Amino acid sequence: MTAEELAALKAQLCDERDELISLSTRTKDDRAPVALDQQSVGRLSRMDALQQQSMDLAREEMRLRRRQVIAAALKRIEADDYGYCLVCGEDIPYKRLQADATATRCITCMS
Ligand SMILES: [Zn+2]
Repeated sequence: MTAEELAALKAQLCDERDELISLSTRTKDDRAPVALDQQSVGRLSRMDALQQQSMDLAREEMRLRRRQVIAAALKRIEADDYGYCLVCGEDIPYKRLQADATATRCITCMS
């Protein structure tokens, strides 16, 4: 992998991380506790709100997990230990890293 390719993958990881952070920030209100005020929210719509909220929470959890995976990949780049298959030690092809810059296994070891 060339230095330019590595820089491109790093930028890709940072972009995705920033996007996840901004999504988390933008949807913060959706995850606020659902109001228990029966007057402003009817019973059915309150159930809808709770259901909606649990979906938002699940999505947020996925974002946080993805951010951890991205942070780990960025750490490997910093440590100069990036782009190798954790199982067999072979280089992971650049094309594969372009598709997912957090990949830690080559295609062979994935299957
Ligand atoms: Zn492998």
